[in-house]
Amino acid sequence: MELFKGWSGVFYMLGLIGAGMIIETLFPWRRAAVDLARWLRNASMMFYSMIILSLFPVIAAYGVAIFAQSHAIGLFNLLSMPYWLELILCVVILDALAFAEHRVLHRWYFFWRFHRVHHLDLHVDATTSMRFHPFEAVFRALIGAGVVLALGLAPEGILLAFAVTAFANTFTHMNITLPSSLERALSTVFVTPTVHRLHHSVKIENQYSNFGTIFCIWDRITGVFRNASHLTADEIFGVSGNEKLEEETFGNLMLDPFRTPKNAQVSRPAPNPDRAADPNMPDDQRS
Ligand SMILES: [Zn+2]
Repeated sequence: MELFKGWSGVFYMLGLIGAGMIIETLFPWRRAAVDLARWLRNASMMFYSMIILSLFPVIAAYGVAIFAQSHAIGLFNLLSMPYWLELILCVVILDALAFAEHRVLHRWYFFWRFHRVHHLDLHVDATTSMRFHPFEAVFRALIGAGVVLALGLAPEGILLAFAVTAFANTFTHMNITLPSSLERALSTVFVTPTVHRLHHSVKIENQYSNFGTIFCIWDRITGVFRNASHLTADEIFGVSGNEKLEEETFGNLMLDPFRTPKNAQVSRPAPNPDRAADPNMPDDQRS
């Protein structure tokens, strides 16, 4: 588990993204031009997220877990259960938390401002997995620290959850598609690139579905799972209308949360299922 700690954890993540980029270049779901500037912008977002997070070491989940363990704080430190079960529960609980956070990021405009940076990417590939606004990383770390403390999650469980989540985050953004039998089998429980790609569609009813990172069971049990097998290579990704960026630069991405496009909705209600089901309704009339 030591492999996923500190700098070696960062190299593990970069290794995953590098491997993902090679695989998707060899076996692309849809052809895409090499866009070095976009790759660098996406990588810079991750770089600055790490810098900003490093300014708040007290909310780092691993450190919080060590603190909780040494002071016997939190639910898991009061219960006795097999160690392997505790590790698995850490991964499952933190993935459920990521799902809930992701729903909030789309639902409330204050949070959407920050998450929008991720969705402004016009193409979805392994580099998209690096593109999160540093403040989104801080929100997630803050909430994560609270949950780790309250539940007393094991430090090794945090490292395992990091390893699996980093893998899933890269894998699900990759511009690849799995053989249909494997896709069907995997996507009953796990998020696949096809399942997650739908969430990046410009259509609001697609954006309001498939929020999961590792498991798609959270989407299934809360009724927001959408089959994505109909998605074709001409699907448009990103955001629609006024929320589009005039020019995509690193500065514009960093400052995007502080911009309020005309007619922006303070609350972003989930699409009404009847309206979402109407394919003829123009996007600007949808909620
Ligand atoms: Zn999203």
